[in-house]
Amino acid sequence: MAKVSIADLDLKGKRVLLRVDFNVPLSERQEVTDDTRIRAALPTIRHALGQGAKLLLISHLGRPKGKVVPALSLAPVAARLSQLLGQPVAVAPDCMGDAVKAAAAALRPGQALMLENCRFHAGDEKNDEAMSRALAELCDVFVNDAFGTAHRAHASTVGVTKFVPLSAAGFLMAKELEYLGRAVADPARPFVAVLGGAKVSDKIGVLKHLVTKVDALLVGGGMAYTFLKAQGMDVGASLLEADKLDVAREILDRARATGVTFLLPMDHVIAEKAEATAPTRTADSTAIPAGWMGLDIGPKAREAFATVIRGARTLVWNGPMGVFELPPFREGTFAVARAIAISGATSIVGGGDSVAAVTQAGVADKMSHISTGGGASLEFLEGIDLPGVAALTDKK
Ligand code: AMP
Repeated sequence: MAKVSIADLDLKGKRVLLRVDFNVPLSERQEVTDDTRIRAALPTIRHALGQGAKLLLISHLGRPKGKVVPALSLAPVAARLSQLLGQPVAVAPDCMGDAVKAAAAALRPGQALMLENCRFHAGDEKNDEAMSRALAELCDVFVNDAFGTAHRAHASTVGVTKFVPLSAAGFLMAKELEYLGRAVADPARPFVAVLGGAKVSDKIGVLKHLVTKVDALLVGGGMAYTFLKAQGMDVGASLLEADKLDVAREILDRARATGVTFLLPMDHVIAEKAEATAPTRTADSTAIPAGWMGLDIGPKAREAFATVIRGARTLVWNGPMGVFELPPFREGTFAVARAIAISGATSIVGGGDSVAAVTQAGVADKMSHISTGGGASLEFLEGIDLPGVAALTDKK
């Protein structure tokens, strides 16, 4: 990796500001209902504490939009972190200012303090210079482990790095960059990308970029119907982005010209309504009746996709193959999850829905890497330089 990593630094006695992604779901009773993101940052936190750092943790939580919203306090998160670490983690009254400076100064090596929600200040998302300076004043070293926000330039991810002498990647950030970086730069081949989800428009960038990198692109989900229509097929009432037909044709032409396999579902599970109780049928792509919509890839497509997946050595998956939230339309997505699990390939899964699907299919532990950042991983796969990564100090 071309960026300084936390592993390269001597943190003893240093004030370390660690940006984490603790944007976790809370119950009405203010309890953390899923602590995956907190656990994901533990290796970095334990390392820093073990080295004798005075650790200040900073994160956003929810969308307070620049105002103090007590229900979005990081106090419950600090409580959960404290349980996981087996040591107390106090919460500061704010994320910057004199009171926080004093609390930080009172920390002893090996102690951690959770700063309050950085989005209680509008300056964070505006990458405000005054806020960036105020955060930098708190620390000697900045470490970023919040891959999920690396595609945005905020004061707590990018601005702060301008005013601290050293900015390093945490272990979680480094792992994301390692897996995604290798997939894009030097993948073991065949390199296969599986893309799904609702819309072509959300994934044009990644489709255009990946079509120049992969050996095969498998497209399912709602976005497949715009591609099928672009090939002249009648897609009934399926999700269709009529204004994206040209770009779909352009991507198909590009794949044809470069010899990239571009696989679209040849059959579908169809229904008249996207409802769990709606009667369903299976139909080939050439035979979707008027008024019916494709809501999952069909059995022939599952088999065809699985065959390509089985031959892959590197796999990237983002987006479900159908409306997998509803049981009648989840089999295609689960079939892809299972095929990836037994492929033996280096597999990288990103995007909230695909991650949920591998968990529901019971194969999460079979994936090489589950990305913690849906948007950030897509932008990385688009070939975009992530500002949160670019801002970190280069390795000499
Ligand atoms: P995205 O956020 O773009 O990854 O899209 C995820 C959403 O796409 C999920 O909520 C799915 O229910 C939805 N989706 C997947 N396949 C289809 C389809 N064939 N028709 C309509 N929606 C779909």
